[in-house]
Amino acid sequence: MVDAAGNRLLAGFGTTVFETTTRLAIEHGSVNLGQGFPDDEGPASMKSFLAEYTSTRSNQYPSMMGLPALREAVARHANRFYGLDLDWQREVLVTSGATEALAASLFGLLNPGDEVVVFEPLYDAYVPLVKLAGAVPVAVRLHPNDWSLDLAELEAAFGERTRVVLLNNPMNPTGKVFDAAELGAIAELAQRHDAVVVCDEVYEHLVFDGLRHVPMMTLPGMRERCVRIGSSGKIFSMTGWKVGFVSAAPELLSVIMRAHQFLVFTTAPNLQAAVAHGLDNEVDWYTTLADRLQAQRDYLGSALASLGFEVLKSQATYFLTVDIRPVTDADDMAFCRTMTVEGGVTGVPVSAFYASQAPRHLLRFCFCKRMDVLEDAVGRLTNWRRAA
Ligand code: PMP
Ligand code: GLN
Repeated sequence: MVDAAGNRLLAGFGTTVFETTTRLAIEHGSVNLGQGFPDDEGPASMKSFLAEYTSTRSNQYPSMMGLPALREAVARHANRFYGLDLDWQREVLVTSGATEALAASLFGLLNPGDEVVVFEPLYDAYVPLVKLAGAVPVAVRLHPNDWSLDLAELEAAFGERTRVVLLNNPMNPTGKVFDAAELGAIAELAQRHDAVVVCDEVYEHLVFDGLRHVPMMTLPGMRERCVRIGSSGKIFSMTGWKVGFVSAAPELLSVIMRAHQFLVFTTAPNLQAAVAHGLDNEVDWYTTLADRLQAQRDYLGSALASLGFEVLKSQATYFLTVDIRPVTDADDMAFCRTMTVEGGVTGVPVSAFYASQAPRHLLRFCFCKRMDVLEDAVGRLTNWRRAA
C-alpha cells in the first residue's frame, strides 16, 4: 500500500472554501455568488491580441523575470496612477498570478521562526503560505461589523521576530480600504521593527464611492520596504489568465526571485504580451470598471437589506458581507448550505477567512455578476424568504 498521508501541514488545511462552495453551487444548480470571478470578461482587444500573438510569435519560455514589454508596462502603470518611479529591469517581476507572487515573496523573504503580521479575516492562502515557509502568522483582528483596526492591538502584534507584514488593501473579504491613519500606523511599526510589508493590492482599481487607492509603497520611508503585488485577473476581469506582477526594490526583488525560479520559473508569453497591451491601451476600460461594479454592489446590497440582512459597508473589491443574525440563528456554514439547497443561492461563510475562533454570523456575497444573474439571485432569495 502506498503511504498517501502527504504533507501534514497541508492536510490540516483541507480544500479551499472557494472550491467547496463552487462545487456545492454546481451540485444544487444554485446561483454562485461565492467564489469571486466576474461574468463580464475584459477588453476584446486583449483577446484578439492574444490570438494574434499566439499564432505569430514565440511560444517558448520567456525570461524568468517576464517579458520586457510587460515589465515596462507595469512600471508605466505604477507611474501613471501613483507617481512611482520603478526601474522595470531591476524592480519588476512577472508571476503566475498574485498567488504565486505571494508564495514567492513569502518563501523568498522568510526564514523558519520569523513572524508575519496578518490581518483577520484574511485571504485563504495567507496562513498556509506563511506556515509552509516555516514562519509564524500573528493575527491582528479587524473588528466587525465596521472592520475597525485597534492601533494598540496592531502594535502588540509586532515583536523582535517580526519580519514581514502581509497587508491586503483593498481587502478581501471585507471590502475595506485602509485609511491614511491606519496605513501610517502600519508603516511606522514596519519601520520601527525593520519589517518588509508585502502589499497584496490586487483590487487596486476596484475602489468605490470616490475613494482612491494609496499603495503603501508611496508612503514616506516605505519605497524600499514594500513588495507591491498586482494581478491582471482583477484589473481586466479575466481571473483565469493568472498573470501577476511584483514590484520591489532590487534587494527585495532578488530574494523573491530565488523562490520564483523554482516555483514556476516563468509565465505564458502570449498572456504576458496581451496583458502588456491591455495595461497601456485599455486604461479607460479598467478605470471605469469600478463604476460598473459599484452599481452592482448597490443593487445587491439594497436587495439583501430589504430581505432583512444587515449589510456591512463595502468600499472596494468584488464582495459585500452581511450579518445573517437578523434572519437566522444558524451559523454561517450551516446557513450557506441551507441557502444553497433551499434558496438556490450560494455565498461564502466568512469564518473560512479566520485561522481560529471565527465569528460565525457573517456571509460574503460576490456582486461582480451580470445584472440579470444578480436579479435571478435576488428573486430566488425573495421567494425563499417569503416561504420561510
Ligand atoms: N489576493 C487576494 C486578496 C485575492 O482575493 C486573490 C483572488 N483572486 C488573489 C490574491 C489571487 O490572485 P490571482 O488569481 O492573480 O492569483
Ligand atoms: N479570490 C477569489 C475569492 O476570494 C477566489 C480565488 C480562488 O478561487 N482561489 O473568491
